[in-house]
Amino acid sequence: MNIVGIVEATEGERRVALTPTVVKRLAAKGVTVTVETGYGAGAHYPREAFEEAGATVQDRAEALAGADLLVTVVPPDAATVDALKEGAVVVGSLDPFREHDLVRRLRDRKLRSISMELIPRTSYAQKMDVLSSQASLAGYAAVLTAADRSPKAFPMMSTPAGTIAPARVFVVGVGVAGLQAIATAKRLGARVEAYDTRPVVAEQVRSLGAKFVELDVGETGETEQGYAKELTQEQLAEQRRQMAKVVANADVVITTAQLFGRPAPRIVDAEMVAGMRPGSVIVDMAASTGGNVEGTVAGEEVEVHGVRIVGRVDLPSSVARDASEMLAANVANLVEHAWDEEAKTLVLDPERDDLIAACLLTADGTVRDERVASALEAARDEEATA
Ligand code: NAD
Repeated sequence: MNIVGIVEATEGERRVALTPTVVKRLAAKGVTVTVETGYGAGAHYPREAFEEAGATVQDRAEALAGADLLVTVVPPDAATVDALKEGAVVVGSLDPFREHDLVRRLRDRKLRSISMELIPRTSYAQKMDVLSSQASLAGYAAVLTAADRSPKAFPMMSTPAGTIAPARVFVVGVGVAGLQAIATAKRLGARVEAYDTRPVVAEQVRSLGAKFVELDVGETGETEQGYAKELTQEQLAEQRRQMAKVVANADVVITTAQLFGRPAPRIVDAEMVAGMRPGSVIVDMAASTGGNVEGTVAGEEVEVHGVRIVGRVDLPSSVARDASEMLAANVANLVEHAWDEEAKTLVLDPERDDLIAACLLTADGTVRDERVASALEAARDEEATA
């Protein structure tokens, strides 16, 4: 069994899904690990560290040709999938709701693939949950980015020249990223307010020393998986109306609201942005799924009415070392979960393993996840009518 990591397809991606720590752990199980020349350089892992841990370093073509299991951080490109041998397995954050061509390619090549985003959010599976591990670090990095761009200091400071009021930070969406953003902003001394449509998080917000903003937008709630239920357009409009004042008073707004497998809800509109003081900063953590803020440009920073809107999509990558350690641990935990000690191979049996059944995206020439399969069909119908 040969597990392979290659330099990631997205330019600027600094994270890796295999670290020397994890290579050592996998090698102890009798797994061979191969990484491409230059692997890990973005997170400052030297080649020698991989070699000392027991990995082989090869050029890309050779590494891919020998891969039984390819692990990736971001979705692999077409050439990478095509270079894999028959029977190879791909594991990574495959972004299946948007990477339609990739899913079709994996399906048509009859490769088995595991989409880490589809791992259930249960207590048992937490150790494999890349959404959580990366969102925590992203929440932290979002606050540091905001603090860096803001002309205001975050903590209250009493100086002989006068007292500086603490920065006001408003966090919208209190999932994994939002909680870490609140904790980080509090540690920096800001006055923090937060809001989420799931009322259950109010207590968590308060326990971090922040204020929960109550808005009345009618019935809200969460799905069985703990995800937010989608609001209607009317509810979203009402939410924006009631939220405008809190946004206007904030020096920093961090939006993290996501809907699983769907475009992000529009939470802050152009009028609300215009209502903020010049010099205010918005970090839109939902930039890659359409953004929570009108005017966000994914991957860029723009200034509108003197308000800086940050659409960074590389937040976890900005703390590449720790993000890689967490990601690689998630991958190793998944491998260990599916490992057959006697056969020294992975057993991906959706009939007998609920966790694998949930995250096995393609197998035997089919797309197994119904939500992804119907998203593909809808996209095909749209293309046909266009
Ligand atoms: P997410 O990234 O899908 O969304 C971020 C937050 O945005 C969520 O809290 C959501 O409620 C909120 N949101 C959505 N629409 C909104 C709107 N219109 N206005 C304001 N907020 C809005 O969420 P996540 O961080 O992945 O977490 C989702 C849930 O899963 C949480 O309940 C979390 O505790 C749970 N979870 C469980 C586990 C586990 O048990 N293993 C692991 C991770 C997360």
